[in-house]
Order: sequence, then C-alpha cells, then structure tokens
Amino acid sequence: MKLPYVEPYKTKMVEPVYKSTEGQREKWITESGYNLFNLKAEQVTIDLLTDSGTGAMSDRQWAALMTGDESYAGASSYYNLKNVISEITGFSWFLPVHQGRAAENVLFSVLVKEGDLVPGNSHFDTTKGHIEFRKAVPVDCTVDIASDTTLNAPFKGNVDLEKLERVLKDNPSEKIACIIVTITNNTSGGQPVSMENIRSTGALAQKYGVKFFLDSARFAENAWFIKTREAGYADKDIREIVREMFSYCDGMTMSSKKDAIVNMGGFIGFRDEETFRRASAFNIIYEGFITYGGMSGRDMNALAQGLYEGTEYEFLSSRIGQVARLGSLMKEYGIPVLQPFGGHAIFIDAQKFLPHIPLEEFPAQTLAVEIYIEGGIRSSEIGTLMADRDPVTRQNRYTGRELVRLAIPRRVYSDNHMDYVAAAVKNVFDRKDSVRHGFRIIHEAPILRHFTIGLERIV
Ligand SMILES: *Cc1c(COP(=O)(O)O)cnc(C)c1O
Repeated sequence: MKLPYVEPYKTKMVEPVYKSTEGQREKWITESGYNLFNLKAEQVTIDLLTDSGTGAMSDRQWAALMTGDESYAGASSYYNLKNVISEITGFSWFLPVHQGRAAENVLFSVLVKEGDLVPGNSHFDTTKGHIEFRKAVPVDCTVDIASDTTLNAPFKGNVDLEKLERVLKDNPSEKIACIIVTITNNTSGGQPVSMENIRSTGALAQKYGVKFFLDSARFAENAWFIKTREAGYADKDIREIVREMFSYCDGMTMSSKKDAIVNMGGFIGFRDEETFRRASAFNIIYEGFITYGGMSGRDMNALAQGLYEGTEYEFLSSRIGQVARLGSLMKEYGIPVLQPFGGHAIFIDAQKFLPHIPLEEFPAQTLAVEIYIEGGIRSSEIGTLMADRDPVTRQNRYTGRELVRLAIPRRVYSDNHMDYVAAAVKNVFDRKDSVRHGFRIIHEAPILRHFTIGLERIV
C-alpha cells in the first residue's frame, strides 16, 4: 500500500476555535454592515479571510526571535536576513519593509509617476491601489483563458505576451514605469506563471528597455507548480527553480506574510545598486532606517528562517495538497469552483452559484455572507466590490470576476476543519434558491473600498 502524505510538522501549541449559533452570526454580520472585515475574530469559527500573516510559525522561528538583534543600525539580524535573501533569491541588494504594500510604496516612489503605465498580469489590489494613487495606470495583460473558471490549464496566471508587447510597442519607454508580474497570480485565482512565461517577459523587458519586477508573495508556491507542471523541472529543487525565476527580472517586492510564514514583514530585492540607493531614501522616510525598515530585529530573524521553511518541497506539497483536498470535496458536492485549484485558496464562482443575483447586487459578497451565517466561516469577496470604481467614470467596474475566496492559512487548520468548510458550503448550495437578494452600498471609501465598505440587504 502506498503510504499517504503526512504533514511534515506536528503541533506543539494550540489555540481555541470559537463556536457560535446561526442566530448569533446573523446578528453579528448585520452589525458589521455585511462587511466580513468588521467581524471580531471571536465571531469567526474558521477564518479563511486571508492566508496573509495568519500562518503558524515553527519552533525554529520562535527560537530565532530570541536571538534577534535590536540595534538601530547594522543589526546582526539584518545581515542574517540579507544573506538568506541573497542565497534564496539571488538579489544582493535588499530593503526590509513592514509588509508587501510598503514594498510597493517605496519601490513605486522611485519608478512610477503620473500618467505612467504599469503592465503585468492581474495586479494585486494593493499594487493597483499604489499605482492608481500616483495617477498611473495598471494594464492587465493576463492571458484570456484566466477568466474561464472551468478551463483546466496549467499556467492560467501567465502574461499574454502579445498584449504586453503591444503596450510596450505603442508607448515610449519613459511612460512604462515597469512591468510587474505577480507570482502566483492572486487576482486570477492563485494561478501560477510558467518559467517560460517569466523568461519571455524578461526578454521583452530587455528588448524595450523597461524594468521588470516580480510581485513575489507566493513565489515558492509558484516554484512548486513549475516543478510539478512544467516540462524540464520535475527533477529540479524548489530553490533552484526560485533562483531561476528571479534571474530573469530586475527585482522583487515581497509580502513575507505569505510564503515566508511570518505574521508581519516584507522586503524589496534589487538587482542594481542604483535603484536600491534611490529607494533607500524613500525607505527611510516611510519605513525606517535601511537596516530595519519597519521590522524588529527578531522579526527579521524569524523571516530568514521562514524563507527556508517556505521553500521546502515537502511543506509546499502538504500545503498545496490541503488546498486541493478542499477543492476536490467541493467539486464532488457539485459546487462551481475555479479550476485548476489555486495554490493558496479555493475560489467559488459566485455567478454560477447564485445565477439569479444580478451583478449590481454583488453576488460574491452575497455568497460570502451566506457562508458566514451557515458555518461561521469567513471568506473574502474577489469581485465587483474589490474591483473598485473606475477612477475616471466612477462607475462600478464589472470585470466578469465574481469570486468568493477561501484562503487557507499555512500550518493552521486540519483536514477535518476543511471537511467542515466543505459541508457548510454544500448546505448553502442546497438552499441557494432561498437567497433572494443581494446588497446595496451605503458608504464606501474612494480607494480600496472593500476593506471598510458598509452594505445593507436589499429586501
Ligand atoms: C499580500 C499581497 C500583497 C500586499 O502585501 P501586504 O503584506 O498585505 O501589504 C501584494 N501582492 C500580492 C500578490 C499579495 O498577495
């Protein structure tokens, strides 16, 4: 008999899972303005809002905290992290920052000016926010198949190279701030980008003389998909693949809260000293001195250890395997889930799930609220609320994407927790016709509105 996979870790410390009744949850979600971000953690049973900063650190990481060096400048923890980043990514210049969006803020302060274009695959919401805040324009050059939620293709996160080349050809290179490719492509459903696609994007960037950065929050998961799906990589080590991915670009932004399995932190990696120097000035203004940039010494130490653990094949297999297990269960129940399954999350197609709810009533948000009421499961809307309004026309942007994301924290929940999640979603699926209406907006912020939006039920 083939032995089943087992998690390459065991539990040393536990925390409670909060139970509640459906009646309590109805009350809490109403008080929250039907915004899942407004719920208290104790009002949530299984929290799949995000896999960002919600992972469980290892005993080695907790031990690394104890040896953190809190010197203001030149801390040993900084040099420890610098060495690990250089070993794993190949970038010898780096700036620590407090999280991924801070990396974007510092880097874009150097690269992005009003009127610029920033082509790439679907930009992450904070990336889009930082670009639009500077009155520049993110240009989505993702392959068209990404929007087909049932097509089973290995690299649906890829850049459409023809679309990208058209942008580069039709515009002077001074107008292209940089190319940003997100690995894995979160917005299109945690779908990976192939090595071939990263290589070709790098070649186009060189041809047109523009900089190319990888938004790398889930770079290790992307490497795992390359190893398991792309010809020629099956026998390569994850870290070898990671080094090759980064060899084609000029730098990276990193939210360490994802694949580096820490609760807070980030960094920017640079190939050239010149961009590093220019970014350093902004790092000092926004984040802190260049050898800590918003992170404690102990946190830099834990991050360095997390970069090793996050790039282990065994760990990645068990993590991505757990996500796929949840996806398979839901598929078995007939629930319309995006395929192939993403690395960090399962995405439900809300338009297929609730076809009778019009886009103007936000079907993905409607479904997310129902899943919460059913099982106390907190998910997130990746749809019209998150897509924001068009910055010029101020109309809602209907992108065709109406997804509910169930993001799985790293090393936190058991497979049994996943069974509970699948069962709750199935119960909502069985009673979907009783969900008659969605929501209308009562207040919203001008940018990144989904975090703070207030809604009311349409009756
Ligand atoms: C999470 C994330 C970010 C932003 O990082 P924060 O640490 O949340 O600020 C940027 N890009 C991608 C792809 C991400 O997943």
